[in-house]
Amino acid sequence: MVVNDDGITAPGLAALKEVLEGRGEVVVIAPQDQHSGMSHAITLYQPIRLRKQEQGYTVTGTPADCVKMAVHGLGYKPDLILSGINNGANLGMDVLYSGTVAAALEGVLNGIPSIAVSLCGALEFLPSATQILEELLFAEPGFVNKPELMPQGGVININIPALPRENIRGVLFTSLGVRRYEGILDRRSDPRGGCYYWLGGTPGILESDDLDIDLVAVDQGYVSITPLKLDLTYYEELERLRKQK
Ligand code: MN
Repeated sequence: MVVNDDGITAPGLAALKEVLEGRGEVVVIAPQDQHSGMSHAITLYQPIRLRKQEQGYTVTGTPADCVKMAVHGLGYKPDLILSGINNGANLGMDVLYSGTVAAALEGVLNGIPSIAVSLCGALEFLPSATQILEELLFAEPGFVNKPELMPQGGVININIPALPRENIRGVLFTSLGVRRYEGILDRRSDPRGGCYYWLGGTPGILESDDLDIDLVAVDQGYVSITPLKLDLTYYEELERLRKQK
């Protein structure tokens, strides 16, 4: 099954579908429009409409809603969920806001192995990203051919640098890094003399050259693969608190 947060018309969604072409039945389900930055939000106080369109099913809701609709509304139990290919990186603390990652996590919550895939830059490199993804999924050992590579109770978060295939230096297993964004809030004036704001920001300078960190790996031209788990418990702190009691 293919899902995303950029909406049903996103080129990355079509690219994912193409990767799976000829590999079995593929179900496409996506938000009707752009839902990036929605994280794991679900729609509780509005109806959710499901429509069948040319590209696949659309949902008037969030990425997490899409997975819920597919599993509980349409009765699908796919072997694998691919979420993406997101238009933009999901590195470091981005994963806390990411609808792409949340859709994959929702898949795992429903007992389905799930992978989030993001292209860290210009969409012109989608063909290179799909080629990489095909290798990661179907080569020996790939995530599809070797299901034991998939984490239990977690997702695989893949970030692909926006580079031509031949310039990608390899694949690294990484942990989440931290990068501060600059100019997060853009204050603007409307034609009636009021003001409004746009959230955004540009990524700040990386202060590390540690290739074990996802942000650094992608920055240096490597594909980054980070396993993420559902259980957010901070076990070391739990131990510390218990000892203080
Ligand atoms: Mn997105």
